[in-house]
Amino acid sequence: MATFKVTRVRREYPPLNRSHQHIVGVVTDDGVFHTNQEVVDSLAAGHTWRTSVPDEPEAEIGPEPHCSKAWCLHAPYLSSTPGSTLATDLERMPPG
Ligand SMILES: [Zn+2]
Repeated sequence: MATFKVTRVRREYPPLNRSHQHIVGVVTDDGVFHTNQEVVDSLAAGHTWRTSVPDEPEAEIGPEPHCSKAWCLHAPYLSSTPGSTLATDLERMPPG
C-alpha cells in the first residue's frame, strides 16, 4: 500500500454558483493533480493520503459523502483530521 503526500488543494466555484468554492482535487508532492474521486477510490483500495505542509503536523485525509456546505451536492468530498492548524484543515491548505 502506498502513502500519498498532499501539498496543495484545488478549489473551484460550483457551476453557475459563486457562493462558495469547494475542493475538486488535490496535488501531491510530485506535482500530480488527483480528483476527489481518484482519492476516494484510492482510499477505498487501502492507500493512505496525508497532508504535507512545511512546519505543520501531518493529518490523515478521509472521504466525505459530499461538500461540507449542507445544500451542495458536489460529491465525493474530502476532509482531514479535525484541527486548528493549516495542515489539519483541508479547506485551508495552499491552493494548487
Ligand atoms: Zn460545495
